[in-house]
Amino acid sequence: MKTQTALIHDPRHAPQYIDSLQPPVYRASTIVFKDTAQLLNRHWTDRYDYSYGTHGTPSTYTLGDQIARMDGGEYCLLAPSGLSAINLVNSTFLSTGDEVWLPDNVYGPNSDHVEFLQNNYGIIPKVYDPLDASTFEPSAQCKLIWLEAAGSVTLEFPDLQGLIKKAKAHGILTAIDHTWGASLAFSPFAIGDEALAVDIAVHALTKYPSGGGDVLMGSVVTKDKALHTKLLRTHARQGISVSADDCATVYRSLPSMAMRYAKQSETCLELLDFLKNKPQIAQVLHPATADNASHQFWQQNCLTAKSAGLVSVIMDKRYSWADVCRFVDALKLFKIGFSWGGATSLVMLYDIKKMRRLTHHHLADGYLVRFCIGLEDVSDLMADIEQALNVLKLDEKTN
Ligand SMILES: *Cc1c(COP(=O)(O)O)cnc(C)c1O
Repeated sequence: MKTQTALIHDPRHAPQYIDSLQPPVYRASTIVFKDTAQLLNRHWTDRYDYSYGTHGTPSTYTLGDQIARMDGGEYCLLAPSGLSAINLVNSTFLSTGDEVWLPDNVYGPNSDHVEFLQNNYGIIPKVYDPLDASTFEPSAQCKLIWLEAAGSVTLEFPDLQGLIKKAKAHGILTAIDHTWGASLAFSPFAIGDEALAVDIAVHALTKYPSGGGDVLMGSVVTKDKALHTKLLRTHARQGISVSADDCATVYRSLPSMAMRYAKQSETCLELLDFLKNKPQIAQVLHPATADNASHQFWQQNCLTAKSAGLVSVIMDKRYSWADVCRFVDALKLFKIGFSWGGATSLVMLYDIKKMRRLTHHHLADGYLVRFCIGLEDVSDLMADIEQALNVLKLDEKTN
């Protein structure tokens, strides 16, 4: 064999079946069949279908099985981002004329995605108040309700049990975005005392499971084979696939996730009183505080007192948008950026009134700042917030 050919058809590669602690990474578009029988006897609904890279490789199935186990489900499909996982659910179960309900505090890009489906495909979006299940009033056309616990930015924990029971009574599919809970604060397939289960659990693996701010991925977990098969068909037909290297990165981070989550929850809880006592801050938004509008629902569902590492504050209304920008710019350890779940603390600012369709009497007036707590020492984070708030204090009178 000429060297050129041997570089392609390696005549004596090293023995491949060794045990390493991390599973090997299978980078594949083409998957080679042993013979025509293997080619012809496979089927796309097989649990492990090895046909082509987009269908799956040992790298995607190994991670998918771990995510399904972690979520307490049975089947998992991986998507290249959390938003792509949301798209997979919406485009599998919604068709023209169908109604879908979203909480008012839904992850913004999910709402934008549904608006796109409305404009292009005639889907009908409706909005409910996550703290009041009576505002969820499905019509006969309703196919799907999205739940999100806790909701984005304002972090209300919804009346999960009330909403799920109502959806089930109407035969409506329930999908939860449980990125915040991460299967640690509550289990999406065993919620509350009655162990209520949603139909579909979506998780932005980009956040806690990745833990590093360097991977984008999402998962869709189900317990029901028929639902999974419908999702699987869309997954194949839309060409949704993930990189094996990204799978390996997330897989490697999973064993430390519960410890990271617990530490970030703890640091976040330690910041609550400190934030509450600052005159520049009008309101602290976190479901574990006794005066939070969603506290009872958090208590009902998150019995292990876990609450992620996110806290939002509403700045005193005397501060303009420019003032709040100056505060955020003065932070040193908190980096300005979207997402969360990594070692580095992050901060983001929002004009919350522009993002909500319903009126919410539980939210103070003023601009919102969200802190995503990383793994730094709490005393350093406090000192950083303290020094940045002083930028505002000095200028109070001139604004
Ligand atoms: C980040 C996030 C997503 C989307 O995940 P990406 O991987 O960034 O697309 C979805 N839902 C929630 C609640 C999120 O925080």
